[in-house]
Amino acid sequence: MSEPASEPVAQNEPLSPRQRASAPAPRRPQPRRPQTERLGDRIGWGTLLGRGARRRCPACGAGHLFHRWLRMVDRCPGCAMRFEREEGFFLGVYFCNITITQVVLMAYVAVAFAVTLPDAPLGPILVGAAVLAVVVPLLCYPASRTLWAAVHLGMQPLEPAEQADAAVFRFERGDAARRR
Ligand SMILES: [Zn+2]
Repeated sequence: MSEPASEPVAQNEPLSPRQRASAPAPRRPQPRRPQTERLGDRIGWGTLLGRGARRRCPACGAGHLFHRWLRMVDRCPGCAMRFEREEGFFLGVYFCNITITQVVLMAYVAVAFAVTLPDAPLGPILVGAAVLAVVVPLLCYPASRTLWAAVHLGMQPLEPAEQADAAVFRFERGDAARRR
């Protein structure tokens, strides 16, 4: 009963030519979109916001959404979802960015006063706040875009027309042929 049912597989030995011939072909690189998740599926808020905060597509998690720091692609390079889903869509980006900036500024001012009172240097603190008010929105702008796309997708899942639009784009791009 101590005999194992099958021979243990040697992990580090090179394969013989015969083994190599019968071994499965190396896997082709998979498209970035996980196969288990289809465009239009409901995605949990944690996943959506996590992807948004990491500047990834909220629908599929693909990255590389920015040409430069401030310039976002029109469509996700993974699932082909169009990011600007309606006119004025990205007004929400400014709301996100302003909210993040205000939170950072309030935290900065609170900490600056807390550590310097009772002789808080008002001038330097105000200069610091002014610098943050310029730098933080620039730094957070990309994540604000993807976060807003994530919030919007959470509130309003992709319509069938949007899913079809992305599917047509992927087909024309040659995704179906590549997967064969
Ligand atoms: Zn995507």
